Amino acid sequence: MLKCLFVFFSCAMMAAPKILVIGGGPAGLGAAIEARLSGADVAVVEKRDVYTRQNTLFLYTSTLELLERWGVHVPLMQELYFQGERRGYVLIKDLENALSQKLADLGVVQMRGECHRVQGQQAWIQTSEGELRIPYDLLVAADGAHSHLREQLGIPSIHYGEALAGVVMIPAVHKEGLISVQILNHPQVYIKKVMIPSATVFFFQTRPDAAGGPIGLHECVQFAEDMGLEEAELMKSHCLFCLDNVPIDVQKMERFADPMQNMIFLGDAAATSSFYLGTGANYAFKMTQVAKTLFQHFSQEGAFAQFDEEMRPVCEELVQLSVPLFCNHRK
Ligand SMILES: Cc1cc2nc3c(=O)[nH]c(=O)nc-3n(C[C@H](O)[C@H](O)[C@H](O)COP(=O)(O)OP(=O)(O)OC[C@H]3O[C@@H](n4cnc5c(N)ncnc54)[C@H](O)[C@@H]3O)c2cc1C
Repeated sequence: MLKCLFVFFSCAMMAAPKILVIGGGPAGLGAAIEARLSGADVAVVEKRDVYTRQNTLFLYTSTLELLERWGVHVPLMQELYFQGERRGYVLIKDLENALSQKLADLGVVQMRGECHRVQGQQAWIQTSEGELRIPYDLLVAADGAHSHLREQLGIPSIHYGEALAGVVMIPAVHKEGLISVQILNHPQVYIKKVMIPSATVFFFQTRPDAAGGPIGLHECVQFAEDMGLEEAELMKSHCLFCLDNVPIDVQKMERFADPMQNMIFLGDAAATSSFYLGTGANYAFKMTQVAKTLFQHFSQEGAFAQFDEEMRPVCEELVQLSVPLFCNHRK
């Protein structure tokens, strides 16, 4: 695989632009598909060996339509309806595996390694077989909410608030094909109860005006008991999945491109939402559509400035959705 990547990126005769994507989450994988479809030679670098994350994602109709346009079939995704609109419900690992399969079908190189430095249009990748230095024409940084590349470039972010969050998913059998959402009013945490045919999912997020503290399974059970929820008992015994004490930092980069390094930022690296709202992955896919134009024209004068301009409203909308959940804004 590594040898293949070297050949792929070092062939001087190739005319197609070489786009290197760092991060194989929804943003990176989606961007890689779009870049490949635009005719570029594409490689994706992901530091994890396998996709195992079990977070549940609710996908908007627009995201489902994009997956269809790309020809990405997610075998384990459930299609449901919320207020008359189509929604996808999927574990993130199943979505990532399906996107990765599509990339393999498109002949995109996917390698395991960690990018730790970018300079002079080259990326330094640490792999299990040693360090690689990969030249690129355009680099897509999609390395997530705690983006190392964002830090390395020193591009400042605007921070909107911080919180701790937890998710508890309980297997269940409900009315077929529908999603129902209930917001519960607890003094310490925002609680959202989402019922889908195969599960009840509880999202917890600390309120900025309440005393902080951990949100582990124990606390989630306590919050459920405070609200008199019958699921509190089930949470103790049949909890299929619990994600606890997830730090949330809602932020937006001050600019989304670095023309000096021929780099752009996408997904959670560019702007992070509170996952309580179920928006981040959907916006990551939206951002791939902003990048689509750039993939075709990034060598043209002003292309990065235009990309930046088009990313602004998308990222602003994303963070503004989360802002009402925080009152501890810092600009
Ligand atoms: C519990 C939970 C529920 C959620 N529910 C929803 C929902 O219902 N709907 C929704 O739209 N969103 C939801 N989200 C948010 C969504 O998961 C994120 O917004 C989305 O995953 C962002 O995609 P991304 O590709 O930008 O980042 P990530 O998914 O974080 O992917 C980044 C990738 O980059 C890799 N990486 C990082 N650094 C490097 C490096 N230096 N070199 C190589 N690889 C690197 C990481 O291993 C990772 O695979 C939820 C999140 C959580 C935690």
